[in-house]
Amino acid sequence: MIESVNPYTEQIEARYARMTQDEVFDLLQEAQAAFRIWAEVAVNSRAAKLKEVAAILDERKDSLAELMTQEMGKPIQEARSEIEKCAWVCRYYAENGAQFLADEPLDSDASESYLHYQPLGLVLAVMPWNFPFWQVFRFAAPMLTAGNGGILKHASNVSGCALAIEKIFRDAGYPEHLFRTLLIDSDQVGGVIARPEIAAVTLTGSEQAGASVAEAAGRAIKKSVLELGGSDPYLVLADADLELAAEKCAQSRMINSGQSCIAAKRFLVESSVHDAFVDQLIDNMAAYEMGDPGAESTQLGPLARGDLRDSLHAQVIESVEQGAALKLGGQIPNGEGYFYPATVLSGVKPGMPAFDQELFGPVAAVIEVADQDEALRLANQSQYGLGSGVFSGDVERAKAVARRIESGCCFINDFVKSDPRLPFGGIKRSGYGRELSKLGIREFVNIQTVSVA
Ligand code: NAP
Repeated sequence: MIESVNPYTEQIEARYARMTQDEVFDLLQEAQAAFRIWAEVAVNSRAAKLKEVAAILDERKDSLAELMTQEMGKPIQEARSEIEKCAWVCRYYAENGAQFLADEPLDSDASESYLHYQPLGLVLAVMPWNFPFWQVFRFAAPMLTAGNGGILKHASNVSGCALAIEKIFRDAGYPEHLFRTLLIDSDQVGGVIARPEIAAVTLTGSEQAGASVAEAAGRAIKKSVLELGGSDPYLVLADADLELAAEKCAQSRMINSGQSCIAAKRFLVESSVHDAFVDQLIDNMAAYEMGDPGAESTQLGPLARGDLRDSLHAQVIESVEQGAALKLGGQIPNGEGYFYPATVLSGVKPGMPAFDQELFGPVAAVIEVADQDEALRLANQSQYGLGSGVFSGDVERAKAVARRIESGCCFINDFVKSDPRLPFGGIKRSGYGRELSKLGIREFVNIQTVSVA
């Protein structure tokens, strides 16, 4: 059985039977038949369907948010915002999807030539628990509009959310079986990728899972997109508005109780403002109210699983043993729930887990640097390249710095946010491919060239 454990009470809330191999194969065939019907529907009508999905999300916002909070501990206010964002991405592609997929004329010697975007087929999505709705909708809205079908293998601790998502698409009136959830173990994913019904795969999750999915996709010669972890560097330059920088950096580090791939994780701060920045960062992070994720006032909930909290704590302890200074937090609280307090480490250096690895929880790693060049060198001294930030009073200077950062995006005087209108994705071990915007809807299509003599 697949179990759903409430991270606040540590109690099992639900059990789900794993699907047998025959059930999985039947489901894939049904989904493929649905895809063939859907691919024939005009792109305008496919896009318009998302308005019905958005309306259902609006209507079910409270109950979906409660389910999310129960399964992975997200503070309830953030959970409601996540559902609102899912409705936003649906409305965005409802309005823009057809235009993003319109034929594009090309210059050539032929009388006419153009690009045409065709659907690929069934796309398998292997998804993480940290934004259990948003991660799925940001993939599903463009992918379905492009005429594909979707097969979801969600993280095993959010099976309730996975089934709720399947029901939303069914209730919105998509062809029966076009969007289905598989209740399977991760070691069955390779077998699903190899099935002829699957055309492509996307994974959002850890590097280990990404490597394994990419390997299976490579073996089957199928397209893959990977959205993996990050250790986003934020450069705080001496001319920055420190109050703003500390507030935004704390916000970014604390969103989703620190469990976000695009959270600010490493803070590279110029020496002259280092101590003042650390003090203000501590003030901001310490102010987050930790507690029952179902309570309206809670800003820091429990982490999603006990094993994840233990590995985060081990990374903190090892960094301290290697010389980092613990300025705030760093102690597992007594009592029920997988809580981890807001934690600030200073004096972090390459070689420490807090520098080299991703810290998936509310732990900030501060690194003092002599100047902008050292900040850039250390920012890029990472196996990851997802997001980044620069704080400076001189926007032109910040833009020049941004150009030299190895990351999928850079936000200046703000923290990184995913937004339907902006391409999202990473480089290096943070993965490849782009989601959202016009680029995201073109990840799972055949770009067909048509030429008329
Ligand atoms: P995870 O353990 O990699 O799980 C993600 C998904 O992959 C789950 O559905 C999991 O299924 C499945 N999975 C795990 N191992 C697999 C394997 N060997 N083969 C196929 N599937 C496998 O990651 P997580 O702990 O849930 O999520 C946290 C990680 O995701 C962090 O590193 C975070 O940065 C990253 N993330 C990245 C983004 C982004 O957009 N770049 C967004 C969110 C999260 P089971 O649950 O059944 O194991």
